[in-house]
Amino acid sequence: MTESSGDTAERIVVVGAGECGTRAAMALRERGFAGSITLLGREEVVAYERPPLSKAALADDDPELVHPWTPEQLAEAGISLRLGVDVTAIDREARTVVTDAGAMPYDRLLLTTGAGSRRLGLDHVHYLRTHAEAATLRDLVRAGGRLLVIGAGFIGLEIAAGARQRGMEVVVVEAADQALARMVPPVVADEVVALHADHGVQVRTGTTVTSVDEVAVGLRVGLSTGESLDVDAVVAGVGAAPHTELASAAGLLVEDGIVVDEQLRTSDPHIWAAGDCAAVPDARSGHRARVESWRSAHDQAVTVAASMTGGQEPHVAVPWFWSDQYDQMLQTAGLPTTAVSEVVREREDGSLIHFGLDAQGRLVAATSLGRGPVVAKDIRVAEQLIATGATPDPTALADPGTPLRSLR
Ligand SMILES: Cc1cc2nc3c(=O)[nH]c(=O)nc-3n(C[C@H](O)[C@H](O)[C@H](O)COP(=O)(O)OP(=O)(O)OC[C@H]3O[C@@H](n4cnc5c(N)ncnc54)[C@H](O)[C@@H]3O)c2cc1C
Repeated sequence: MTESSGDTAERIVVVGAGECGTRAAMALRERGFAGSITLLGREEVVAYERPPLSKAALADDDPELVHPWTPEQLAEAGISLRLGVDVTAIDREARTVVTDAGAMPYDRLLLTTGAGSRRLGLDHVHYLRTHAEAATLRDLVRAGGRLLVIGAGFIGLEIAAGARQRGMEVVVVEAADQALARMVPPVVADEVVALHADHGVQVRTGTTVTSVDEVAVGLRVGLSTGESLDVDAVVAGVGAAPHTELASAAGLLVEDGIVVDEQLRTSDPHIWAAGDCAAVPDARSGHRARVESWRSAHDQAVTVAASMTGGQEPHVAVPWFWSDQYDQMLQTAGLPTTAVSEVVREREDGSLIHFGLDAQGRLVAATSLGRGPVVAKDIRVAEQLIATGATPDPTALADPGTPLRSLR
């Protein structure tokens, strides 16, 4: 039993009814919280999974939204779901949230406001974050023709792969000198670019878009190289900005994300934050990171529910991310940016697994691109090694003949 489980008068309000907020609301009940839970969401639909939007939803003829919980399940758990409600302010003195449907008091508040696509100051450009944007993009891809993707991050590259598989001609432009910069090590990023090249998709790094104009033949795109490209559609995947406006306006500490401690509490002891909007200290390196990942949203939801009901456990989950492109899967465990040295293991099939070690020789990250089952198996073991703070011998780590699990 938790400190608050028996108090039916306690009120928890959750702002943001996406993956993280909804999971947290359910986890609060699983922890035995007996007070009221109100889940407020701007979108009109109950939480749905975003990862399929750039994968199966592009490829499938008739994709359906994947809802981890139905409204009935939420109602059964005694969670009051209020969709289409925009929270416009937090009054910390009065412990009230202000919404476009009236004010709402709270005893404890959880911010799971997620992130939104970063926008470019260009016309005729599509973005992908919501199911409605996914439907528009799907129609564009069905229409065929030439697609320009701005941004060689995960979402841009997944869209490029999906559109190519649907028969479009695709070019990707990326401002940085490397695809997937800051997300995966260069050696893996190069493999991803080569995979796209094998499918006839050119990834042009060090290139930006300077203009997009409507012309008789479709859209004319001006590039920083001075060239112009005629295409039928332009989509940008240039990163996501955390929804921190509410937190900032309320005077909470905000950096790249709402700053929280290891129990996901903000600078106000009555307010917590989790998921894509939160900058969370990494249990291994102590570095604060905002991890935009489906599993982190779930893991943090569980930690935050515990913390909001009196638990003292710090958030220790190893970040994990996956991406599907063509017939290959990319997975990352840990935080590659916290590594100071690297080791690369080449498997018999020629695919690579990249390891990152910190200054103490501890494994802190592993990244691999390849066939799904092979990648999944190795990354699962690497994740355990990261979780236990293993310091594997670099020579053994590089040797494909040494089973990873023997390096514990
Ligand atoms: C196209 C796409 C593909 C992805 N693919 C992968 C993948 O392959 N692997 C992976 O690990 N992760 C992937 N992700 C990331 C993953 O989906 C996110 O990390 C996860 O959705 C984060 O959940 P969240 O609840 O924190 O935020 P969100 O899902 O963004 O939910 C936040 C919700 O809060 C609402 N909100 C915000 N402000 C307010 C307000 N003021 N009032 C009311 N409501 C508000 C928003 O409208 C939104 O519905 C992908 C994301 C996208 C967009």
